[in-house]
Amino acid sequence: MALIVQKYGGTSVGTIERIQRVAERIISYKKAGHQVVVVVSAMGKSTDVLVDMAKQLMPHPTEREMDMLLTTGEQVSIALLAIALQARGYDAVSLTGWQAGITTEDVHGKARISRIDNERMQRELAEGKVVVVAGFQGLSEAGEITTLGRGGSDTTAVTLAASLQADRCEIFTDVAGVYTADPRVVPAAQKLASISYDEMLELANLGAGVLHPRSVEAAKKYKVRLVVRSSFTDEEGTNVEEAADMETGRVVCGVAHDEDVAKITVVGMPAQVGTLSRLFNALAVNQVNVDIIIQSSYEAKATNISFTVSGSDLNKALDTLEANREELGFEKVEFEQGLTKISIVGAGMINNPGVAAQMFRQLAEEEISIKMVSTSDIKVSCVISAEHTAHAVRALHTIFQLDAKQMAVVHGVS
Ligand code: ASP
Ligand code: MG
Repeated sequence: MALIVQKYGGTSVGTIERIQRVAERIISYKKAGHQVVVVVSAMGKSTDVLVDMAKQLMPHPTEREMDMLLTTGEQVSIALLAIALQARGYDAVSLTGWQAGITTEDVHGKARISRIDNERMQRELAEGKVVVVAGFQGLSEAGEITTLGRGGSDTTAVTLAASLQADRCEIFTDVAGVYTADPRVVPAAQKLASISYDEMLELANLGAGVLHPRSVEAAKKYKVRLVVRSSFTDEEGTNVEEAADMETGRVVCGVAHDEDVAKITVVGMPAQVGTLSRLFNALAVNQVNVDIIIQSSYEAKATNISFTVSGSDLNKALDTLEANREELGFEKVEFEQGLTKISIVGAGMINNPGVAAQMFRQLAEEEISIKMVSTSDIKVSCVISAEHTAHAVRALHTIFQLDAKQMAVVHGVS
């Protein structure tokens, strides 16, 4: 008997018929003698529908009320799934995030889980029930309902798996696993049998939507065995695990892209000690996530600082800069929207010089200009104009030998 945490995303519970299929799958695990804790997302696109309704009332609704609103989506699916299980004669109980004992920090919209008191879940499991938990939500220390950020149900699932010391955490989604690139953009993309936590973390952070980045962080930290697989088939998925000798096989394991990038340049900041700290502190206080940062001094007394934020944070970032204009002492702010960050990821890069050069050469050959670059041990990212996205992703996928046929020849993988 194993204890398994499963998570079903919005598409997988998008209709009553699909909820019934999920119930059947859960029952097959129960029949095999396993204990199951299930985390579900809101049905289909219902979270987007709720966001949209609120925005019809006010362009920037308060984050507290948004959390109150959005957490209802998951509560619909947990109740329906528990009912579907009960209808088939299986004992099940739905729990909200707070009933499941999930406490978060006091932040609305993207709270982090601070602790999980799993006593209630343990009790329900001991009574033989399937425990169905609402993803993406918790209760703050101050007693406020919070959400973990869009896509946060994955993080609920992984942290519950860690807390319950589950044997594994299975993320059921609408794709068959983790791919070498977005198959909608690259028809030759293929599913990876396994990927390391570090590679997955880079890919997730770089916009591969298949897993919430924080869920991968938690999986790595607590060594949760994570599997990403389809809720529509029985196909084997992708194992996300500790890097083993698989690092030696391939240099690049995937090409990711994020099309929602904006670049901001703060022109004429005073070149003094503490300038960067003041600027990014102001942004951090306002919960603006900054990605690539480039500083260029153009004269002794002044400096320009460029950085990227997600398109959805652009207004917040610009407002923050404006509000702190006097203290920061810059001349002006420029920005550019409609950019894509395209990245190659692979643990094998550490030992292979020239990977970045190969990427730049390929983009140059395609006549795509690179606006910004950032690197880590296992990734290289370039910011380019969004119009070139598909073309660039395909070219890099090919040059790094990830196309389905080539990979079969090069690595003997099918
Ligand atoms: N329902 C939430 C969202 O759409 C959380 C999730 O699906 O993971 O972002
Ligand atoms: Mg998701």
